[in-house]
Amino acid sequence: MSVLNQVDREMAVVIQAELDRQKSHIELIASENFVSPAVLEAQGSVLTNKYAEGYPKKRYYGGCEFVDQAEELARERLKKLFNVQFVNVQAHSGSQANMGAYRAVLNAKDRVMGLALDQGGHLTHGHPLNFSGIDYEFRPYFVSKTTETIDYDQLQADALEFRPRLIVAGASAYPRILDFPRFRQIADSVGALLMVDMAHIAGLVAAGLHPNPCDYADIVTSTTHKTLRGPRGGIVMTNHQEIAERLDKVVFPGIQGGPLMHVIAAKAVAFSEALKPEFKEYQKRVIDNSKAFADEFLKMGYHVVSGGTDNHLLLLDVLSKTGLTGKKAENLLDRVNITCNKNTIPYDTQKPFIASGIRLGTPAMTTRGFMADDFRLVARWIDKALSHPEDEAALDEIRQAVKRLTDDHPLPY
Ligand SMILES: *Cc1c(COP(=O)(O)O)cnc(C)c1O
Repeated sequence: MSVLNQVDREMAVVIQAELDRQKSHIELIASENFVSPAVLEAQGSVLTNKYAEGYPKKRYYGGCEFVDQAEELARERLKKLFNVQFVNVQAHSGSQANMGAYRAVLNAKDRVMGLALDQGGHLTHGHPLNFSGIDYEFRPYFVSKTTETIDYDQLQADALEFRPRLIVAGASAYPRILDFPRFRQIADSVGALLMVDMAHIAGLVAAGLHPNPCDYADIVTSTTHKTLRGPRGGIVMTNHQEIAERLDKVVFPGIQGGPLMHVIAAKAVAFSEALKPEFKEYQKRVIDNSKAFADEFLKMGYHVVSGGTDNHLLLLDVLSKTGLTGKKAENLLDRVNITCNKNTIPYDTQKPFIASGIRLGTPAMTTRGFMADDFRLVARWIDKALSHPEDEAALDEIRQAVKRLTDDHPLPY
């Protein structure tokens, strides 16, 4: 930071302020994590200077011998990590990975089914303002009102009627194991392809703690920056050679120009970290912590969507217990340095920008060493804040407690 400090003090101050924020807050946004200093170093490297349109050994520019090695390392490690035959590591983000995957297997206006966006689906699963909803005809499937888990029987019935070309499994706010064999069976029964977007759960899959979609789906996409704990980016995988060939053409030159070689190098570093036994231990703690977190809220009488969690996140219905909307809860928790996001719960009575719930994830603070007891404590503080929204003394006490706990679990930067 010292060079930046000299040449652009204004920006150095901003970045330092963000680092201080990250250090001093309890980060519960389920899609965030803290990368290792090694990943950060690779991403901040001179590879950012290099143009490398194309793929290893098939580039449009000279001087690619070393970035070729970086991309090959990323590809080989990724294949090993998810036990898959063909990969593309160039997608700039999860959304670009999905655009690549859709274009590799669909034609414009084809029919697709994805989880309803207000029940955990992602923007790229058919939001009317997103390219996915514009380019394809999406129909949502839903969770059951009683179990709050995916209603596979209804999905089967709706798929028979709608006859989609593709079914998308995967979510941004779904706390349970996804039943890939069932998705496969439903897709097969209507002659549809199956795509899994494992953006949120890729780290759990890598650690063998969630079924591996590469064993079931025709095409699999992911981000690299959520539970997988790599740099911000996307990946696409498949076991079908024809899909792989189309995919490579779709990503470049179809939808992207030069790949972000510094990010691809950082992806490779993250994949090698994810192949280590310590990563499995980390992901086990992520899930244990999430279960303890959910359990503590259940004990205090909260409605936790679907009654708990199998993965790294939980959805907490705050409105029914505290009378506060998700939006108010998010703002209030922000005031005590606990960061999370408002989130709709299934069949929410509130609009998405207000919402009845908040989404809470354990990956980031587990990286900082939080254990189950720490999350139980944080659950108590969240309840205390939400139950005393006007009590400045109580909020101040929580702020002090957050400071002590975050000081005890420093970031390595
Ligand atoms: C986060 C996410 C994405 C998109 O990732 P970006 O990198 O933000 O574009 C796609 N699908 C799902 C399910 C996600 O959770």
